[in-house]
Amino acid sequence: MEKKFDTKAVHFQKGDGEKNKSKTKPIYQTSSFAFQDLEDMESYFTGGKDHLYTRYSNPNTDDLGNGTARLEGAPAGVATSSGMSAILAGILTAVSPGEHMIVPLDLYGGTYQLFQQELQEWGFQVSVVDFTDKEALEAAVKEDTRLLYAESVTNPLLRRENIGELNRIAEKHDLTLMIDNTFPSPYFLQPYAEGADLVIHSATKYIGGHSDVSAGVLVGTGELIAKAKKRIINIGANLSPFEAWLACRGLKTLSVRMARQGGNAAELAGWFQKHTSAAAVYYPQNLSEKGNGAMVSVDLGEAYDVNTFFQSLDWIKIVPTLAGVETTVSYPLNTSHRAIPDTIRQKLGITAGTVRISVGIEDKDDIIAAFAAALEQAAR
Ligand SMILES: *Cc1c(COP(=O)(O)O)cnc(C)c1O
Repeated sequence: MEKKFDTKAVHFQKGDGEKNKSKTKPIYQTSSFAFQDLEDMESYFTGGKDHLYTRYSNPNTDDLGNGTARLEGAPAGVATSSGMSAILAGILTAVSPGEHMIVPLDLYGGTYQLFQQELQEWGFQVSVVDFTDKEALEAAVKEDTRLLYAESVTNPLLRRENIGELNRIAEKHDLTLMIDNTFPSPYFLQPYAEGADLVIHSATKYIGGHSDVSAGVLVGTGELIAKAKKRIINIGANLSPFEAWLACRGLKTLSVRMARQGGNAAELAGWFQKHTSAAAVYYPQNLSEKGNGAMVSVDLGEAYDVNTFFQSLDWIKIVPTLAGVETTVSYPLNTSHRAIPDTIRQKLGITAGTVRISVGIEDKDDIIAAFAAALEQAAR
């Protein structure tokens, strides 16, 4: 019987029959694997041996790719050195230079820069379209369009992308659909099951979960992932064994962390709506049956001074990342969305008052009390 999500998140690492039977998977901190003789080495190429050289594959990195794929319901996955390299590997798998792809306005800033600065320079054609207008999106499809790229939940205003609708457009025009599923993690959403061909995660975020690792994962169809693995080997975008091991350790607690962080986030979003003068509170509705994610964004508007708010946060750190077990805040305007032109930022609603909150596993009363105290200080 296929195991349930919470069980699969814990039991995904492949045993290797080693003699000492350690309870946890050892770290294969090695650049290469050794062989008995020429015949033994040849067996790697004929399928008898799994590993040759760590840039090609390694037991720890394989675990992260395969374990995440299983949670997404995808047949295959591969780990990479960062979320950005997972995105690059996916794109190089689905699109060739000269061909065209369509990406949304409300993209993670780093991804926006990859499309605008690197890929266009290498000859890829990129159209940036407002994905809330699906007619405009479909109108942007050209003869040489190969890829639709989107984020399942956008950053920082937490818009839930309509993946079913994107899948319909992708199927109609024979496009590859690639989704960045970092924000909800596979716990809340599984875009592969909704029709995406490729799904990427910045495992630096919820999969790692402890802000101590930079890693990425790309999952998808067997055919696409086989091609992606070749790309990753050739460009050297592999993940180190230790980083993979840390990310695997994170993956084992994904379910309990997300359940707790999602519950705290719902409480905090409700509190901001009811008890503060914030101009807007962004928190998804009906994201999944398990909850609405662990990110909350607020626009403090005119009622509060943002800098005083940041200065008054006590134990809540200001960091340009998200998804750790600690509650943290970030300021999209001059970090994640620094690279986004002003006009686009305004159109999206990212203002000088926008604060993004990554809700942690602490006691919800302490989280709310810390924000309440900071807002009291910051009130104009
Ligand atoms: C952080 C992030 C990335 C990039 O991941 P890295 O691990 O920093 O390379 C991509 N997409 C989203 C949505 C992110 O939050």
